[in-house]
Amino acid sequence: MLTARQQHCLRGIGIDVWAERGATSGNNPAAEPVADILSAADLEDIRRIANTGDRPGFPEQSEQPVNLPQSSESDLEKSGLSPVPPAQPPAAVPAVEVPVPAKLDSWDSIIESIHGCTACELAQNCTQKVPGVGNRQADLLIVGEGPGHDEDIRGEPFVGRSGQLLDRMLAAIGIAREQVYITNIVKCRPPSNRDPKQLEAQQCRAFLEAQIEQLAPKVILSVGRVSAHNLLATNLPVGKLIQQMHKLPGTEIPLKVTYHPAYLLRNPSAKAIAWEDLKLLHQLLQ
Ligand code: URA
Repeated sequence: MLTARQQHCLRGIGIDVWAERGATSGNNPAAEPVADILSAADLEDIRRIANTGDRPGFPEQSEQPVNLPQSSESDLEKSGLSPVPPAQPPAAVPAVEVPVPAKLDSWDSIIESIHGCTACELAQNCTQKVPGVGNRQADLLIVGEGPGHDEDIRGEPFVGRSGQLLDRMLAAIGIAREQVYITNIVKCRPPSNRDPKQLEAQQCRAFLEAQIEQLAPKVILSVGRVSAHNLLATNLPVGKLIQQMHKLPGTEIPLKVTYHPAYLLRNPSAKAIAWEDLKLLHQLLQ
């Protein structure tokens, strides 16, 4: 049986009618929901994702793998997912010479280097840098795209409408924002909320890699196209990437792709699919 709070959280992400399946779901927020407000098409999407045999595989390791702490295979096994064998290489992302900031071996040096960075034009145009926020011992790392207007003003990732939805999604699986670490592919707001350019993302990459190395997360949740494309070095559509588990290239860290909350705000029916991703995430974090 779900608690009133959990039901409230689910309502917050647009899933508000539940029927219990069997008596075994107990107090588990990841218990199977049957949202009968969902359209037949929504349910069909969920079924297709659950049953798909069309698994595109995860990309090969990038040319310069990040040397990160290894997490055990059992994390994936516990989740009931099998690691997907490497498949076709993604469309090549051209390598670019990027200056690597000198000292990124502690949280303080990472944050200081981000604040001092002038590597690309984003730094000149943003109000302030948005390095990341949260628990530096978190099991879960959430990686978005880049700061938007609200984040640029506040200096904190995911604080606008997208961020509020993200918080409600996390709450639906019993996780408070303060328990996770949240950052972005780029740490400065791209003007007019355009996508970060490939070079900008590459120039910011050392910061993200250093953050991942410090955090050694158990799982990464990659939200949205820009995040997934950069982390997985692919250009496959998000709709494909969410159909399987990945590992951060060069590491054993499980990586789940999900829709960006901004996309969910524009396409509420996709929340049903995001809910499947959240349940999976909940399993991986057990
Ligand atoms: N969207 C993102 O991808 N990141 C943020 O921090 C805010 C909105």
